[in-house]
Amino acid sequence: MIQNKWDDADERRFVDAAGSDPADQELARRVYTSRLIGQDHDLVLHGGGNTSCKVKRRDIFGNEIDVLHVKGSGWDLGAIQAPGLPGVCLKPLQELRALGALSDEDMVNFQRGNLLDSTSPNPSVETLLHAFLPHTFVGHTHATAMLALADLPNAKAVVGEIFGNRLAVVPFIMPGFELAKVAAEIFDNNPDVEGLLLINHGHFAFGDSARQSYDRLIEHTNMVEDWLEITSGAVPKSAGGRSPEMTAESTDILPLLRGIIGDANAAFSGDRDAKMPVMNLRNGENIQQFFERNDLAVLSRRGVATPDHVIRTKNYPLYLSSEMLAGGRAAISKAVDDFIAEYTTYFTLNAARFKAETGGEKTMLSPAPNLAWIEGVGIVGISADAKAASIASDLAAQNMTAMTNGEDCGGFHPVGPEKLFDMEYWSLEQAKLGKGTPPPFQGRVVMVTGGGGAIGLATAREFAALGANLFIVDLKQDALDHALSELGKGHGGIAMDITGDDAGERAMAACIQEFGGLDILVSNAGAAWSGEMAKLDNTTLRKSFELNFFAHQTFAKAAAAVFSAQGRGGQILFNVSKQAVNPGRSMGAYGIPKAATFFLLRQLALELGPSGVRVNGINADRIRSGLLDDAFVSERAKARGIDENTYMAGNLIRREVEAKHVAQAFVTLAKSERTTAHVMTVDGGNIEAALR
Ligand SMILES: [Zn+2]
Repeated sequence: MIQNKWDDADERRFVDAAGSDPADQELARRVYTSRLIGQDHDLVLHGGGNTSCKVKRRDIFGNEIDVLHVKGSGWDLGAIQAPGLPGVCLKPLQELRALGALSDEDMVNFQRGNLLDSTSPNPSVETLLHAFLPHTFVGHTHATAMLALADLPNAKAVVGEIFGNRLAVVPFIMPGFELAKVAAEIFDNNPDVEGLLLINHGHFAFGDSARQSYDRLIEHTNMVEDWLEITSGAVPKSAGGRSPEMTAESTDILPLLRGIIGDANAAFSGDRDAKMPVMNLRNGENIQQFFERNDLAVLSRRGVATPDHVIRTKNYPLYLSSEMLAGGRAAISKAVDDFIAEYTTYFTLNAARFKAETGGEKTMLSPAPNLAWIEGVGIVGISADAKAASIASDLAAQNMTAMTNGEDCGGFHPVGPEKLFDMEYWSLEQAKLGKGTPPPFQGRVVMVTGGGGAIGLATAREFAALGANLFIVDLKQDALDHALSELGKGHGGIAMDITGDDAGERAMAACIQEFGGLDILVSNAGAAWSGEMAKLDNTTLRKSFELNFFAHQTFAKAAAAVFSAQGRGGQILFNVSKQAVNPGRSMGAYGIPKAATFFLLRQLALELGPSGVRVNGINADRIRSGLLDDAFVSERAKARGIDENTYMAGNLIRREVEAKHVAQAFVTLAKSERTTAHVMTVDGGNIEAALR
């Protein structure tokens, strides 16, 4: 059941904050109810759905005008603010109804031309539907239950059964002018209805007040949920979630699939170094149950519950059955090839039809899958970056719920590929193609060990700023939490001790679970032990070797295994140390394993080079961090009889070297496409530690 979350005190707060203008107060009520709607994922997901209200305002001449505030594109209902509901002059919008036809470009242009504030975002593509309805408040959702209803073969009859005359039914038409016109005609013939059910699309509910419109939206949706429950005998539950247990299958299959799709991207773009996608795995209880069905192959061919989804997930998932998975790389590769061939045919046929009808041309989007159903693994969103992959998974999970509920109640039969093509290749979306360059590390998965420390976090930040998705590994949970909150959404991590023979594999499995694979390992974690070698006990030295050498080796080894499964190269970056080449007094326990790591870097570069894996590192010195904390700096400075700043700037260029400079050097190495077996010094200049 969807909870009705209306609260008088909350409403009051929004209204009070809006000031004394009655129009602003009504808009505040719309903002409040839009958020209530947007925050419930069973009502809307990821920018889906839209809301509006009609108010009276004064124009610049002081004349009273009718204004429609309607959701602007790029805003999410769950977090919307007043500027996210731009005002448009209502009268001119309503006059459009007299036209016989209106192109999407002309519609958008006309809507922009009638904005009250020229800097507002584009009003929703469903603006005219809001404008043509007479109600003060209109809300539109793609609620899961409503989608199950909207995709039933006998949806119209079921709407009559559930709602009597309270809801009118609108046949499927692509969002835009034509849909608005037809919906308004249907409303005019049924002026007492409280809402509309749009076949294969979603739900509208309206009212004279924000409260009435919201109450109806929730009530209608719950009436459908009740019906679904009674008809199917089961409670419709939303899918999603991720099981904390990692399956061996997902660890094996996701990097393989990631590499295969990377190969497909390379073939499609003609760029050998084309990026691999980022993946988002969902394998929660409901999804596992879904995978127990015996009609998965059939259902995988049904399509998306509402046209909005097609842009994120394509119409069909890549379906990998257990039998296919048993065939290994060759079988998965063939399944991807078949998917691409079918998608290409779909594009060619529909683009030709479009050209015959309108004379227009379409440009094919990447034909690779954006979603996979993998038996024994789960559903997997596949996109250019982690955020988009997660959205694809959310929509796919919703689709799965609507599909299950629909199938249990008469059948799930969404709109066919021909009509969906018009949505997927909507002219306004096509116009955006090729505009703007993605950030250089978009979709690159970068693991940083010791990612919660000074250098690790600075490095993670630097990569994240360039679009990478970070996987942070740190010994301490609080350091990890801090790093992830600094980095924001789209990143992941694990708190663990990185010493131990299976640590690398465990970290890789967690990273695969999060993103599907790995592109760059920054093997950064380290700690210093000191003491003169002639007096040092072996236990201390061994401890240092565990962290400052063996952890580098086990992580490199585990990363190399992921790179090998992906088959598209990769990178390892080591945080070595100037100690590796220039011993400091009493620093042997630290420098000797670092010297071994320095050699490891060259050995790995030699051995992994032929498979396209580059291995580089940094020799840094005198960076304020966990290794060199304030007390240590002060002690060192005192020992030399100089002040702290002079000590920190004790290098050729007389400037302190900071963690961010090390981070920049890691990024520089990551970008240097033909550099391997290289160690870059980041120490402000130290001739004794300079490499030959
Ligand atoms: Zn819609």
